[in-house]
Amino acid sequence: TPVIEINQLTFTYQGEQNAALSQVDLRLYPGEFITITGPSGCGKSTLAMCLAGFIPTAFPGEMMGEVLIQGHDTRKYPEGGLSGIVGLVQQDPEGQLCTLTVADEVAFGPENLCVPPEEIRSRVITSLEAVDGMHLFHRQVHTLSGGEKQRVAIASVLAMKPALLILDEPTANLDPRCTREVLQVLAKLQREQAVSLVIIEHRLEQVLPWTDRLIRMDQGRIASSIDRAVMLQGG
Ligand code: ADP
Ligand code: ADP
Repeated sequence: TPVIEINQLTFTYQGEQNAALSQVDLRLYPGEFITITGPSGCGKSTLAMCLAGFIPTAFPGEMMGEVLIQGHDTRKYPEGGLSGIVGLVQQDPEGQLCTLTVADEVAFGPENLCVPPEEIRSRVITSLEAVDGMHLFHRQVHTLSGGEKQRVAIASVLAMKPALLILDEPTANLDPRCTREVLQVLAKLQREQAVSLVIIEHRLEQVLPWTDRLIRMDQGRIASSIDRAVMLQGG
């Protein structure tokens, strides 16, 4: 069964004339790595927020169709109710990091999910290891580099053990070295973690090596969806 099933999703932000998403159909299976690309304004971030359950709850607008996450309709969840299932890492990690130290930051999500303390400790360690960040454990968040912050943001989401991790242009604000660090972490997640990944990225050369399926959006619609086998054939 798919982790995510989107059926004929159309969404229009309140006060807007044009739909940000039109008749989107998408199925995502466990362990898949999907890249979503397309020009600015085509609806990528809106789709990410629908997948994370923030639309329609946190953004007013008109939604038609349905988003099912592990079979659950996202409209029936209270805001934040999906945080144990779907994790969203936004472009700028700054807004997402809210505590003083890295260890506290990574513990924050599972604490809110009322995970027992011993389990939290072990999740903090495994999540930091997954992003090659154990050496950052005692650091103050505000002293980290951009790439380190982004890796801590990823670890914080992993600590909630999501079935699906969505990353919205995770390297957009990073210099080339930090970008490489984050990409290495993504490749490792894809190899080692039983998590489905959706990454929104326009710099395709960075993510194509790990992509199982490439989805191109245009003006709120899915313009094409290409499987890895076909990408390799096409060169
Ligand atoms: P992308 O991520 O591909 O750049 P977005 O999902 O951000 O695209 O935007 C899709 C469309 O929805 C654009 O026309 C954009 O202006 C509009 N939009 C995005 N966020 C909002 C919002 N909060 N309120 C109104 N319109 C929005
Ligand atoms: P991206 O291309 O990375 O999605 P955008 O520039 O489209 O970035 O959007 C950045 C932020 O501005 C998002 O939070 C989005 O919701 C908001 N936004 C985009 N378009 C509009 C709009 N027309 N009205 C209100 N908010 C918008």
